[in-house]
Amino acid sequence: NHLKKYFPIKGGLLSQTVGHVKAVDGVTFNLRRGCTMGLVGESGCGKSTTGRTILRLGGEKTGGQVLFNGKEVYDMTPAEMRELRTKMQIIFQDPFSSLSPRLPVGEIIGEAVREHNLVPKNEFNDYIDQVMDDCGLQPYHKTRYPHEFSGGQRQRICIARALALNPEFVVCDEPVSALDVSIQAQIINLLKSLQEKRNLTYLFISHDLSVVEHISDTVGVMYLGNLVEYGETDDIFAHPLHPYTKALFSAIPIPDPTVKRERVVLQGSIPSPANPPSGCKFHTRCPYATERCKTEAPKQREVEPGHYVVCHLYEK
Ligand code: SF4
Ligand code: MG
Repeated sequence: NHLKKYFPIKGGLLSQTVGHVKAVDGVTFNLRRGCTMGLVGESGCGKSTTGRTILRLGGEKTGGQVLFNGKEVYDMTPAEMRELRTKMQIIFQDPFSSLSPRLPVGEIIGEAVREHNLVPKNEFNDYIDQVMDDCGLQPYHKTRYPHEFSGGQRQRICIARALALNPEFVVCDEPVSALDVSIQAQIINLLKSLQEKRNLTYLFISHDLSVVEHISDTVGVMYLGNLVEYGETDDIFAHPLHPYTKALFSAIPIPDPTVKRERVVLQGSIPSPANPPSGCKFHTRCPYATERCKTEAPKQREVEPGHYVVCHLYEK
């Protein structure tokens, strides 16, 4: 709810705060249990920071609320947070750097399970074997080290490590972007089957629109720390409404030549989130911008049932 996360910019002789990078600047959306919300946008738009801020990784938020099962995550006590750490997990883009090279895979996957006392000692091995099997890994992989695995296998290890804690919600931050295209589909299908089996809720962050279309039930589009459009995947892809979404989707080739899609070509480059434009932050690049857009920030409106847009064009 209106989530904000700013990072201070230090400068001057005394290294005082001279400004803020408004990485997440008032983002509101809902996640449905057992469903996937895709979060798209160019790099630096605040997708990853949104994911991390929801998980309460990286200090205090700047404003707004994060409600998990109705409870404000940032008001939780250390004991509640400890429990929440198992229920909310994150999978990163780079399976190479997120695994300790010095630990065998069985340890990597089981470490936190043991720390949190999630299963009785005598069931531990079977439990880890089962999680590994669910993720397409073999029992003999437990004694191997991360460098002995391919990129796809390493991502399976990261997924197994996250799922071993039996989470309800997983932030997947560009989980297939570092992988070969041929491996991407395997990992996506694994994430989908695990979701069905375990009723997982995903926030799936990606700049790859075709991957997001494939895996997501709902999609949010971010620009300079704002969620400019959000709705059901089919609606967003069939008729994007926000000028930025239209521009983003103009870049996807359409296989059917009889289908016409409005082409919106962006001017200029993304402004700095440390010094974002006034009014609608997209006005410096929007082909439909009016005088009003330069001064007045548009509000989030439900334009069609479940389809939210932040743009003055959709006022009525
Ligand atoms: Fe473009 Fe104005 Fe809509 Fe912003 S509010 S997207 S500048 S038309
Ligand atoms: Mg990112």
